Amino acid sequence: MRVFARTPLDISKVIVPRGQVHLIPERCKGCEICVQFCPQNVLCISEERNQKGYRIPMVIPGKETECVNCEFCTLVCPEFAIFTLPWNGDHDG
Ligand code: SF4
Ligand code: SF4
Repeated sequence: MRVFARTPLDISKVIVPRGQVHLIPERCKGCEICVQFCPQNVLCISEERNQKGYRIPMVIPGKETECVNCEFCTLVCPEFAIFTLPWNGDHDG
């Protein structure tokens, strides 16, 4: 079956949400589930370790503005160690 792609008529009115990633390092167990589930591939596991010795996730350098605040990472984290907040694009806020 052939599928015809089309551009939604209101595409210019769609505002893509942005999010800022926050981590509670001491809760993290370095399982990488958040990294695997992020649809934007925003996260990776860093070289930094928490007090338990687990390597914690971080935002990939250069992808600081690519989180869409979908909250999948928050949803799948078994340790409630990661969350995002809406971000308006201002690094001071
Ligand atoms: S909120 Fe969504 S896009 Fe942002 S880091 Fe989490 S999974 Fe990725
Ligand atoms: S899913 Fe949670 S516990 Fe696992 S690496 Fe990500 S923040 Fe850490």
